[in-house]
Amino acid sequence: MQAVVYRGLNDLRVETIPVPRIGASELLVRVAVCGVCPTDIKKIQHGTVPPPRIFGHETSGTIVKLGARVRGFRLGDRVALHHHIPCMDCHACRHRAFAQCPQYKRTGITAGFDPAGGGYAEFVRVMSFCLPGVVKIPAKNSFVEGAMLEPVNTVLKGVNRLAVLPGDFVMVAGQGPIGLMFTKLLALRGLKVIATDLLEPRLKLARRFGAAHALRADAPDLPAQIHRITRGRGLDAAVIAVPADTAVQQALELVRCAGQVLLFAHTKRGAIAPVDLSSLCMDEKDLIGSYSADATLQPAVARLVFSRQFDVRPLVTHSFPLAETSAAVALAAHPQPDSLKVVVAQTA
Ligand SMILES: [Zn+2]
Ligand SMILES: [Zn+2]
Repeated sequence: MQAVVYRGLNDLRVETIPVPRIGASELLVRVAVCGVCPTDIKKIQHGTVPPPRIFGHETSGTIVKLGARVRGFRLGDRVALHHHIPCMDCHACRHRAFAQCPQYKRTGITAGFDPAGGGYAEFVRVMSFCLPGVVKIPAKNSFVEGAMLEPVNTVLKGVNRLAVLPGDFVMVAGQGPIGLMFTKLLALRGLKVIATDLLEPRLKLARRFGAAHALRADAPDLPAQIHRITRGRGLDAAVIAVPADTAVQQALELVRCAGQVLLFAHTKRGAIAPVDLSSLCMDEKDLIGSYSADATLQPAVARLVFSRQFDVRPLVTHSFPLAETSAAVALAAHPQPDSLKVVVAQTA
């Protein structure tokens, strides 16, 4: 089969490799669509994990082979996959800190080499511990919608970390694909979203995704505008969906006392930003983070996406064939005004 193999820093090669073999409790899935995720881009461009690997973890496709012991699935089922599944039994899982569970940190989907998702290949092997994360895609929905379950899941997990009430004001800084997902899910919860970005087209989209206000992130009077919109009370919470340290500091000033600032894009180790710690202690502001998905949310995510209560289709602007995966990664790494989510698609 064809696969796009990571061979070193910024080096993705189309190679012919064997179709993965599966065990008695595993699935073989022909990949239809795989989303390009910023965490893969980081690994490709910063070499944070050793090669060779086949990345791609926002995967949907068709079951083409089942192990003898697999129950609940049939050949030809169209499915969305989930490459990280917690054990539900360890110390981390008992605290619902699923992303810190040792089993969760293992990647259970592979096209070959050290498991890394494998979605940039024709076929992937789904290991037994990842079967609870396999979701059937209804006939009326597309593979693209299936591939979006994973990123939507990570965003819903982040939304659930916020202690907010309907009608509260939440700023979402950054209206890329992830920021827009936050805007939509928060709006669906009845929150008043103040979306910020540097690009006009994205501010326009943010309004379409339910933002009550869409403001230029670089407007010098942004604090004054937020003061006015919130009638002097300040933001109830802020979500930082861009890896900008200044956005964190500004958000900490703009949230009201006992408000929350959620970091979602600060995935690079070593970033140190000065914070006035008395704003955490005396003003009781919370600086929190959220990373990766929560498998227990998968049924709710599937309902939201497949019912199109959250129609994810407008988020996907660019689609590349498997052989052009490097171009897909390059575009996702350097978003254009008209580009949002980029996918590698082998079947429409
Ligand atoms: Zn991802
Ligand atoms: Zn666990």
